[in-house]
Amino acid sequence: MKFVSTRGHAVSQSATECLLKSLAEDGGLYVPEHFPKLDLARFSPDMSMAEFGAELLLPFFKETELESHIRSICEAAFNFSIPLVETKVGRNLFVLELFHGATAAFKDVGARFLSHSLAHLGQSGTVIVATSGDTGGAVASAFANRPGFRVVILYPRDKISKRQEKQLTSWGPSVRAFSVNGTFDDCQRMVKTALADSALSKQHKFISANSISIGRLLPQVIYHARASLQYRARTKKSATLIVPTGNLGNAVAALWAKKMLFPIDRVILATNANRTLYDYFESGRFEVRTARSTLANAMDVSAPSNFERLAHLYPDFETLKKDVMVFTVLDSEIEAAISSGVQTYGHVWCPHTATAVASLEKAQSTTHQIDAVLVATAHPAKFETVVEPLIGNTVQVPPLLAETLRGSSVSVDLEPDFTSFKRALG
Ligand SMILES: *Cc1c(COP(=O)(O)O)cnc(C)c1O
Repeated sequence: MKFVSTRGHAVSQSATECLLKSLAEDGGLYVPEHFPKLDLARFSPDMSMAEFGAELLLPFFKETELESHIRSICEAAFNFSIPLVETKVGRNLFVLELFHGATAAFKDVGARFLSHSLAHLGQSGTVIVATSGDTGGAVASAFANRPGFRVVILYPRDKISKRQEKQLTSWGPSVRAFSVNGTFDDCQRMVKTALADSALSKQHKFISANSISIGRLLPQVIYHARASLQYRARTKKSATLIVPTGNLGNAVAALWAKKMLFPIDRVILATNANRTLYDYFESGRFEVRTARSTLANAMDVSAPSNFERLAHLYPDFETLKKDVMVFTVLDSEIEAAISSGVQTYGHVWCPHTATAVASLEKAQSTTHQIDAVLVATAHPAKFETVVEPLIGNTVQVPPLLAETLRGSSVSVDLEPDFTSFKRALG
């Protein structure tokens, strides 16, 4: 199985070659040349993430160095549960909890898969990542104790929660965290520039771990596919997945699962006040504005980096609009969803998951969509300063998160320009 560039002007590459690259040579993103025709009879809703994952990913890694290791990589990477849980409202609304990993957000899935894959490939180097909140922590956690790897993280100062910041800055010398006086888009641009600078890239042996990395995207297909079978087993229906969306990685992974014929009816993109995708679906024009800070900070993105993959998957705008819907959710609506969460659904939502809940409620009023899987992307304990006053209660901290929070923080302040970054890297 080869991967091609969304822009169509780069040579095709194997999955393992893509793991080591970020962008294709023509500046596009790698996508599968075609999607494997899977024998869905080989998949069951009762399979573990590792079993399901090995079966699903094998065709992508055929005839690569990782082919015979995919099973053990999946076993090592997916060391936490990803349950589909009920809500109070009834039979056909479920929550896919992606937040039971080390850093309490879904980014652990991709980061751990990438880390174990690179280690199997005998790689070493500096994993470089821009984070809007959760990616950095997951990448740091996945690579921190791996011999031969260092991690460089850029994050927007004062735009992430204190607990998220702790997860970026408390790993010791192998993880360098840069606190950038700017937005996530600034951080992402600096990382892209660094990766494109071939001398610098060579000097530091940069490895990209942003959500454009195939090594993060492919494993995310697994839980959407598996959840869709679990949903069908319980409800006899195809699932509509409501995905809190920023850089569009998780939602594209859901659409890839649909493309591989798993029973997914539609994907609803829940976005915050950053309206680029919403406006695109309204007007057909992709216009990037400045990113706005919201309560769902890991989604504070105005130029979703996986947009090219979405456009590539759906060359026809009308088909896109049939399979995919977008809602934009204001902070006040996030707060309202969190406030009523326990009473209405029996769940405490994080601000990101709350955008999915608010989107469900909007969909209910416009299309009478009531059956769905709410994709819960982070644990509410990461955002306790937002969540606790709204629910009038404390949120218990998961043990792994508590462990990270005990470490001491070190970060380096940086202006949002590439020259300062280059100097700081040394
Ligand atoms: C990263 C993140 C998102 C957005 O996911 P994308 O793949 O960037 O669209 C949503 N919620 C949480 C908690 C996240 O960490």
